[in-house]
Amino acid sequence: MIFESEQNMIFNLEKSINQHINLPTEFGVELYLKREDRIHPHISGNKYRKLKYNLIEAETLGFNTLLTFGGAYSNHIAAVASVGATFGFKTIGVIRGEELKNKVKDNPTLRFAQSCGMQFKFVTRRDYRQKTSKEFINNLKEEFGKFYHIPEGGTNALAIKGCEEILTETDKSFDYVCCAIGTGGTISGLINSSNPNQKILGFPALKGEFLKKDISKFVNHKNWELITAYHFGGFAKINNELIAFINQFKKAHNIQLDPVYTGKMMYGVLDMIYKNKFPKGSKILAIHTGGLQGIEGMNMRLKEKNLPLIK
Ligand SMILES: *Cc1c(COP(=O)(O)O)cnc(C)c1O
Repeated sequence: MIFESEQNMIFNLEKSINQHINLPTEFGVELYLKREDRIHPHISGNKYRKLKYNLIEAETLGFNTLLTFGGAYSNHIAAVASVGATFGFKTIGVIRGEELKNKVKDNPTLRFAQSCGMQFKFVTRRDYRQKTSKEFINNLKEEFGKFYHIPEGGTNALAIKGCEEILTETDKSFDYVCCAIGTGGTISGLINSSNPNQKILGFPALKGEFLKKDISKFVNHKNWELITAYHFGGFAKINNELIAFINQFKKAHNIQLDPVYTGKMMYGVLDMIYKNKFPKGSKILAIHTGGLQGIEGMNMRLKEKNLPLIK
């Protein structure tokens, strides 16, 4: 079991500290940020947690190829590609957008994944929607041979098991735990491992009514809530206010946030603190789930639109 025996040398779990975020005392709450972004430069934050038991399973079952799905700037695609290069799996990425076929060199995420040895299959947006259908997966098996299938965003039961290891024993002292949501796997793990007196707040990075139903399928507690006011128009949509916030947060606290997930979540958490939505004396833990590889690609798009950049 290469993954199990070597993961301690590759991933720096001790770097995932709870960093205190200084706030004016008038707000009467304490805020900490769990630095999961520091676990690994490419397999960052929750992507390590979500892949851990899937990789053990893949090795146990004797697979040497991983196949997964993602968009052109996906943190998950970058993580799977890197995991493959590190632990000796072949990797195949089914990428949304046929037009990207000839643009790999212009896209930092795909370029990185390719440098890790990932093989791509570019599909139309319409075909991509078939990503969970049995027939589509079977066709992929005919094309590529035997592979271990990891769904888009990496969310499945084993991913949630990994995310149940994010909160530690000492984290039980927090009243609120906040995290960004994409597919809902990470928050499901947090909910399952939380204490009943804690409240888990999820900040969806996209407009998604389906999320509540998806998360409900995976969890066995009811101490959670979705805060849907901070998606900034949809997945990977951003504006000048969010960019200014991310840059200002870095200046103030020396912590880089990403524009797709953690920037929106922290904007929301601080906005709620400023609006006194948390009871006085609350101890709040926000999870920095990583995602910093996406900044370069986002800045490329911002530059094209003549918008300010993430510094
Ligand atoms: C993938 C990702 C998420 C979303 O995680 P889900 O388990 O899909 O909800 C949050 N933050 C970052 C930085 C991510 O890369």
